[in-house]
Amino acid sequence: MAIDQSLRDRLTNSVAAGFPGQVSFTQDLVRMPSTRGNEHTVQDYMARALRSRGMDVDVFAMDDEAIARHPGGSRISSTHSRAPIVVGIHRPRKETGRSLILQGHVDVVPEGPADMWATPPYDPVIRDGWMHGRGAGDMKAGVASAVFALDALRRIGLQPAATVYMQSVVEEESTGNGALMTHLRGYRADAALIAEPGNEGLTRANLGVLWFQLEVRGIPVHVANMGTGANAIDAAYRVVGALRKLEEELNAETASHPLFGSHLHPINLNIGKIEGGDWASSVPAWCRIDCRIACLPETSAAEAARRIEACVTDFARSDSFLANNPPRVEWNGFFAEGYHLEPGSEAERTLTEAHRSVIGQPLETRLVTAYLDARVYALYDRIPVLNYGCTAENYHGFDERVNLASVQRTTAVIAQFIADWCGVEPV
Ligand code: ZN
Repeated sequence: MAIDQSLRDRLTNSVAAGFPGQVSFTQDLVRMPSTRGNEHTVQDYMARALRSRGMDVDVFAMDDEAIARHPGGSRISSTHSRAPIVVGIHRPRKETGRSLILQGHVDVVPEGPADMWATPPYDPVIRDGWMHGRGAGDMKAGVASAVFALDALRRIGLQPAATVYMQSVVEEESTGNGALMTHLRGYRADAALIAEPGNEGLTRANLGVLWFQLEVRGIPVHVANMGTGANAIDAAYRVVGALRKLEEELNAETASHPLFGSHLHPINLNIGKIEGGDWASSVPAWCRIDCRIACLPETSAAEAARRIEACVTDFARSDSFLANNPPRVEWNGFFAEGYHLEPGSEAERTLTEAHRSVIGQPLETRLVTAYLDARVYALYDRIPVLNYGCTAENYHGFDERVNLASVQRTTAVIAQFIADWCGVEPV
């Protein structure tokens, strides 16, 4: 059901006509500091936006038990978001095309010290064609792209001739449970598209990610009486040393991997947060370290977890302090596997044509060494999932920004993709 060039051109022009509105919609999203647990307002905004477009809107909470039972469910800790998931549902007059899930996450990572930003993190300043702000690139611009790609169809009197689910999720930056929850709720389609920032490329594969907290405890004494090695913070550093060795081992093992073998260092261990001790003159009795590590697509999260636990246990046995005070490893976030998008799907072909039509270049593919919600649709729905989006910079860092010309181009690609994949009918 390939669409003709005149419809492609009309859609591209329609995206351009709606772009000022799309920019201000994106700015509204950026103004809401939707860090983990604080996504209620932005989800309310999304629900209203989808309802005002005539969609049925399903707003629902995480089902902790269903998540815990599912092999792709990540651990639900006390810091897990309680914000709802929002799904807007478009139903066609007549279902003649292929159904589609458009997905985006509205949670953002913490902004860090505000004084390290050139402009305030939640002020969506536009400068030289870039919109700045935490979440502007990852991935509020992408969420807006999906909504405005559908608007572009409506502006020229058309709508998808198949069911389209617009899913606005949370917990993408910490567990992936938001995306999993849409699967558990029962939503299914023939393909999914997620407009994560991707430099206008298609993600071919990504890695699994695990979060864990390492806790070391001991007996506090006065510094005057401290023996060697009885300091929980010092001991935690030694465990980190052992984990770094494991990290090198795991990276050495990736050399023969058909996709990630060419990558220099795909498996990154991040020591993301550290706290411990109570007093400068007391030997610390406790230390907690929050870590993140990746695993190859074919490795199960459970398998990766076993390697880490074994590494910590083995090292502790060899350490005089830790042998008597074994560290505790707690899985407190991501427990998610990676995925590989098989080449040659109809969905990929359809996106390739839309991309070529708008961008004028072949669609390039990329490997991502981070977590992506795409894994839920690839692994559990078993459908082609297209992780494709605009150019953005410094996400998870300071001065995050998204390129507006790129946002407009990729929105036009997505609009054409929807028209081609779902087919169109008059509004
Ligand atoms: Zn993202």
